[in-house]
Amino acid sequence: MSKKWYPTWYAKEIFDIDFNVLKESGIKHILCDLDNTIVPYHVVSASEGELKWFEELNEHGFTLAIVSNNYLGRVRNFATEHNIEYLANSNKPTIRRIKKFILNGEINKDEWVFIGDQILTDIWAANRLGIRSILVEPLVKRESIRSFINRKLDNKIRKKILKDKDKISIEKGDLNE
Ligand SMILES: [Mg+2]
Repeated sequence: MSKKWYPTWYAKEIFDIDFNVLKESGIKHILCDLDNTIVPYHVVSASEGELKWFEELNEHGFTLAIVSNNYLGRVRNFATEHNIEYLANSNKPTIRRIKKFILNGEINKDEWVFIGDQILTDIWAANRLGIRSILVEPLVKRESIRSFINRKLDNKIRKKILKDKDKISIEKGDLNE
């Protein structure tokens, strides 16, 4: 299978991600998809669990920015409510806009990770950027039509990736790295 679709790590959901492993791996900055990664695509603001996750992430010293293909209003409302940097209409898996967003791509790539639920947008974009990535499971099955188009192929590729799940897991309490 093509390397361009392969994530660095896997976790079932964002809450399972072991921040210590990220730290030990030199990660300092997190780019994160919004819909179906942080909250389901129809949910407008974070609940207690997500707020705690944002806080924890902050305490560990990571920066967080949302990179979403969704429209400005949706992304801005969520991000500004929680004081998070954001890029809407990001056009993943293309990386022109993301590069511009992250200091014109003039970054230390070893310090960045992209978290997302979709292989054909999030993971592919991360690989094009040359940064590491964490694939998570989509929070809900019901989703926007845009995402649905990619989902079938995503599932097929995901099945193959998950055969290596133990090798690439970054979940808390997991001894495999
Ligand atoms: Mg998503």
